[in-house]
Amino acid sequence: MYTMGTILRHGSPAQKQAYLPKIATGELRLQAFGVTEPDAGTDTTRISTFARREGDSYIVSGRKIWISRAEHSDLMVLLCRTQKREDAAKPSDGMSVLIVDMRQAVGNGLTIRPVRTMLNHATTELFFEDLEVPAANLVGEEGKGFRYILDGMNAERILIASECIGDAKFFIDRASAYAKERNVFGRAIGENQGVQFPIARAYVQMTAAAHMVDHAAGLFEAGEPCGTEANMAKLTASEASWYAADMALQTHGGFGFAEEYDIERKFRETRLYQVAPISTNLILSHVATHVLDLPKSF
Ligand SMILES: Cc1cc2nc3c(=O)[nH]c(=O)nc-3n(C[C@H](O)[C@H](O)[C@H](O)COP(=O)(O)OP(=O)(O)OC[C@H]3O[C@@H](n4cnc5c(N)ncnc54)[C@H](O)[C@@H]3O)c2cc1C
Repeated sequence: MYTMGTILRHGSPAQKQAYLPKIATGELRLQAFGVTEPDAGTDTTRISTFARREGDSYIVSGRKIWISRAEHSDLMVLLCRTQKREDAAKPSDGMSVLIVDMRQAVGNGLTIRPVRTMLNHATTELFFEDLEVPAANLVGEEGKGFRYILDGMNAERILIASECIGDAKFFIDRASAYAKERNVFGRAIGENQGVQFPIARAYVQMTAAAHMVDHAAGLFEAGEPCGTEANMAKLTASEASWYAADMALQTHGGFGFAEEYDIERKFRETRLYQVAPISTNLILSHVATHVLDLPKSF
């Protein structure tokens, strides 16, 4: 999982020793990534969950939304403010990353409320009321957490992009098989170019996106800057999987809506990736301003 890359790259030797071997063996279960807040949305610098230092602890208060896997995780990488935005030299300063041991936190200052969604995804809302976290759980330096989290976000975008490629392959495989076996007007529907061409187009788009994802993953693995490539990979892959989903539903006709074919389920699932972990608009905005030097819109 991308989450613990933050500890791998920025954690202390003691933190790495405490967590990473147990994660590798599976002794420590899933990990959650606590960034998004209801009043900040995509504008992460406006998060307000605050960790105040008291002796050897941080006392955390605030709220998070859309935190996946929280109920099933042993650990969470939490982004919070340790300095108010208005007091920081830059909006992205004054944020810190804490490792939260969920097994100790739940019921002792942390409440988890599941959020039901249109897809099978265990996501939650979190309420922090004076949750005590040992100061030894601070990752890296206080106030520099935003840059540690950005690394993890690139990994997450590449991982989700890879998932979209898998989704697209699923839709293409299912649609091709169905188009060959379904007979209407005395012949396989796949003999009609009106049915073939969308399947072929989905394959072309998926293949192009897969090259983009491989490129971004290669840069990430080499430790090179890859923010733009991770973003572009996520955009192209999420659009390829959504096109393939729509194509597969259409190819299956009425049966695309039947639960037993799994098309409608995957159709709902793959739609998420144009919104999370970052929406398409924000990627376009990144490319426009950081690559093409167009004026900043926000
Ligand atoms: C199922 C699910 C699981 C998630 N899991 C996690 C998780 O584990 N951890 C976590 O921290 N977060 C998680 N998220 C949150 C996810 O990263 C955010 O939902 C996503 O980044 C979008 O933020 P938002 O929902 O606040 O949308 P908003 O920021 O409110 O944006 C709403 C819409 O407005 C558009 N928009 C906003 N500003 C601009 C602008 N300046 N220009 C153009 N368009 C703009 C956006 O593109 C978007 O379409 C999850 C979300 C979902 C739905």
